[in-house]
Amino acid sequence: MLKFVDVARDMPEKRPPNLRKQDFGEIYAEYAAAKAEEQASRCSQCGVPYCQTHCPLHNNIPDWLRLTAEGRLQEAYEVSQATNTFPEICGRICPQDRLCEGNCVIEQSGHGTVTIGSVEKYITDTAWENGWVKPIRPSRERPESVGIIGAGPGGLAAADVLRRAGVQVTIYDRYDRAGGLLTYGIPGFKLEKDVVMKRIAQLEQGGVQFVLNCNVGEDLSFDAIRGKHDAVIIATGVYKTRDLVAPGSDASGIVRAIDFLTASNRKSFGDDVPEFDTGELNAAGKRVVVIGGGDTAMDCVRTSIRQGAESVKCLYRRDRANMPGSLREVANAEEEGVEFVWLSAPNAFDGDAVTGVRVDKMRLGLPDASGRRAPELIEGSEYVEGADLVIKALGFEPEDLPKLWGVDGLEVTRWGTVKAEFTTGKTSLDGVFAVGDIVRGASLVVWAIRDGRDSAGAVLEYLGQNAMVAAE
Ligand code: FAD
Ligand code: SF4
Ligand code: SF4
Repeated sequence: MLKFVDVARDMPEKRPPNLRKQDFGEIYAEYAAAKAEEQASRCSQCGVPYCQTHCPLHNNIPDWLRLTAEGRLQEAYEVSQATNTFPEICGRICPQDRLCEGNCVIEQSGHGTVTIGSVEKYITDTAWENGWVKPIRPSRERPESVGIIGAGPGGLAAADVLRRAGVQVTIYDRYDRAGGLLTYGIPGFKLEKDVVMKRIAQLEQGGVQFVLNCNVGEDLSFDAIRGKHDAVIIATGVYKTRDLVAPGSDASGIVRAIDFLTASNRKSFGDDVPEFDTGELNAAGKRVVVIGGGDTAMDCVRTSIRQGAESVKCLYRRDRANMPGSLREVANAEEEGVEFVWLSAPNAFDGDAVTGVRVDKMRLGLPDASGRRAPELIEGSEYVEGADLVIKALGFEPEDLPKLWGVDGLEVTRWGTVKAEFTTGKTSLDGVFAVGDIVRGASLVVWAIRDGRDSAGAVLEYLGQNAMVAAE
């Protein structure tokens, strides 16, 4: 250990842009065993590990790094999976620069962070290859059942914990495949889909029941689910797109990011996607303009490149330093040929079928409530950016669940998210819990996993208390 002085930080090999933009495969290769051991050995085994403190799951990072450096991979896997339901997924898509790696003391001392995420991915990918990841086999079956609405990372993480405790678990989802945004939002070049499908199969083999193509509120009422189970967890995520109200914004060729990304992911599964085949949700040969500066916008620009767009531009009203998206993703996008047009905001769209975006140039003023410098309009700066496809990636808001589901008494916050205790997910309704984006607003996979695990613990306590009452 402590090799950071002699051994430089080295990420797994990244495929060159001209090759990786031809497909939807992940862009980073796997570490070779010797390289993973070498990189893990850079850790200085801090007494107070800031990496662990800043990981939402408080993963025991120094321990699994040491075990990896010593070549004790199966033990490393056991330690890593004890706190994380999907370590290989987090290793791929956590914004590590803002979480564990960004707070590594070696990074702070200028030596370059320990590559925690890549080692975490390597450990669990190796565990899968060697058959160390086993289906869930509870030591005893319990009679209680829990219904989970939403098969994204929050719902799946809760299901895993509950099923290990022997509880009967049914997950309802409106899509035809489980995984939520892991399956249909996040593109394959960040997270290949077989990684997600393997986990779903593992849960299925462990006895979790999936009821797919079931839109709760339409196909099945919330009350029916509540009546059927001893407890319910709401894990429905946030899907209402923040809209852009501007002259011409109803033109054809202006689409929502989630529709565009879902169509692309479905194509990767080999599904029949008419909106893709007609060109409505397909960037091939088009001048694409993506509006937004978050991670969803980054996924849209990079997907457009892979679909063979003629040009791809990303309009954002602040500058590079003040954008919400990961700078690592911006760098990847630029390498792949995306042009960022900073300090630019759309004010109207030309054409019945869109032909251009009218853009105002901005300058940055004083910081606003978010702490970032607020964009201010530069009068008379308007110009037209030619476009055949405009993708709106302005963020997501929660759907109005109490109204959609006709549930009285399910309290929501003023932002429309479900009101729930952060440590347990308890809502205002007895026996109903909520986790993930529907509680936090658009957030991260690792936070949804954390919520799912915490809430499952609270559900077990709730079921235990009810069982005691029934026995009295
Ligand atoms: P979701 O993953 O949204 O899952 C909710 C599930 O509930 C869905 O399957 C949905 O079909 C189902 N559902 C909703 N309503 C109903 C209903 N009425 N009946 C039945 N089922 C219903 N995070 C990262 O950490 N790293 C990233 O790189 C990253 N990239 C992202 C890229 C994109 C394009 C997007 C949109 C998000 C990204 N995120 C990323 C955020 C991350 O995906 C979410 O924070 C996370 O998936 C939230 O998990 P969840 O379980 O709360 O909800
Ligand atoms: Fe880092 Fe995410 Fe893994 Fe935590 S779960 S150690 S934040 S990559
Ligand atoms: Fe190792 Fe960095 Fe974590 Fe310290 S902060 S334990 S050096 S990974």
